Amino acid sequence: MDLGIRDRVAIVCAASRGLGKAAAAGLAREGARVVLCSREQARLESAASEIRAAAGSDAAVLACLADLSRDADIVRLVDTAVQHFGRLDILINNAGGPPVGTFPGLDDGAWQQGVELTLLSTIRCIRAVLPHMLRQRWGRIVNITSIAARQPVNDLIISSTLRPGILGLSKILANQYGREGILVNCVTPGFILTDRQKEISASRAATRGIPVEQYIAELSGEIPLQRLGRPEELADVIVFLASERAGYVTGAAIGVDGGLSKGLLS
Ligand code: NAD
Repeated sequence: MDLGIRDRVAIVCAASRGLGKAAAAGLAREGARVVLCSREQARLESAASEIRAAAGSDAAVLACLADLSRDADIVRLVDTAVQHFGRLDILINNAGGPPVGTFPGLDDGAWQQGVELTLLSTIRCIRAVLPHMLRQRWGRIVNITSIAARQPVNDLIISSTLRPGILGLSKILANQYGREGILVNCVTPGFILTDRQKEISASRAATRGIPVEQYIAELSGEIPLQRLGRPEELADVIVFLASERAGYVTGAAIGVDGGLSKGLLS
């Protein structure tokens, strides 16, 4: 299937590793021109080179340093993409995860950090790209959220509180901007084996005093597909939602969790 996004211009947030990097690689492989951002120059440049090499010699991949918890950086990121490629079609919203922990262990500073990084960065990125999408009456916005948006996770209380808000935001924007050709969707990943997931798994295993391999094996047993996901498996869904082929999908939240979420609607 030709996804119809050759030469479309995409911003992928927080893409030096993990889910963002996989999404950026998937878009570049389909011929989209990709701007990826994160906070660390060296890792960002190396991710951009890797994606360029994998996507082929004519791949257009630009690295732009930006801290997504700073509005000025987000505005500069979007300006850079438009100045470099002359347009902007696709936004993949993503950021580092909010602080991990249960209710008693989290102070206002941790909550504030979560709001800035998880919620406000999404709002600010959408605000910055909308004028460009409105001008051309075509846009795709895909928000990477979490299974915690559907099914709260005790020790991810900040994530579980904020992510449902992103589903609400996306639904309202989908309602409002559909007539302008702008589609807004979310993906709600379960356990996907990225560096962050490995760190969280190691910390949960340590808390229980068991080897991380045992923790991963037990976790896999709870997932209908009996394993954690690969970043590329989430990226495939994101790339589809960002494509021409997803032209009648908006306001959706798509679970990519190996069947882990137990609700009826996914
Ligand atoms: P990761 O830690 O592997 O990668 C995070 C990326 O975000 C890195 O590129 C990092 O440099 C960048 N980043 C962090 N803070 C930033 C900031 N302030 N500004 C710019 N870039 C920043 O994480 P991941 O596993 O890819 O997860 C990405 C998001 O998806 C997180 O919000 C996470 O909570 C969520 N999520 C992940 C999973 C999973 O299983 N991996 C599941 C559900 C939700």
